Amino acid sequence: MSKGRLFVISGASGVGKSTVLKRVMEQRKDLTFSVSATTRAPRPGEEDGVHYFFVTRDRFEEMIENRELLEYDEHHKNLYGTPIAQLSGDKHVVLDIEPNGAFQVKRNCPEAVLIFVTPPSMEELERRLRGRGDTDEEQIQVRMTRAKWEIAQSDHYDYVVLNDDLDRCVEEILDIIDYENKK
Ligand code: 5GP
Repeated sequence: MSKGRLFVISGASGVGKSTVLKRVMEQRKDLTFSVSATTRAPRPGEEDGVHYFFVTRDRFEEMIENRELLEYDEHHKNLYGTPIAQLSGDKHVVLDIEPNGAFQVKRNCPEAVLIFVTPPSMEELERRLRGRGDTDEEQIQVRMTRAKWEIAQSDHYDYVVLNDDLDRCVEEILDIIDYENKK
């Protein structure tokens, strides 16, 4: 298990979390990003072992059976999970996972810090999701339904950060990380 702190960052699809996380990771070299395993197909530009470990459902089920995962969840019709091997270093670890996974992490590691990135509005979220152009109509509906549920879970997070301005959102997350590390 990691000797560093775990920082879980959640937020509905389309909230801009990947951009926020990329900026956070660039600015803090004491952080390492936890690469999840998933059964979902890679999107254009996504690399195996960098964005995700892309695995078959059989392999994922084997990982569950072998207790290789800290947490996992099925959503958007795919399985996603955090390999325990991702938490073995000395650095603080950032996990980009959804609420079910976040609460499993908190149960297993109570010192983990849960941060929820929230959109300015549902309309803006849908606009951003459509603007991405790599998600079909059925997936947009699935993701919007899921987004409403995810936002309702944000009450159970340690921090909720609004992403209406990228720079401010990144600054706020960096401040939370600094504050928690000084505690
Ligand atoms: P996407 O398919 O857009 O990359 O991710 C969909 C959702 O899966 C996001 O909310 C993301 O945070 C979540 N996710 C990614 N990896 C994991 C994981 O390892 N565990 C869980 N529980 N959720 C994950």
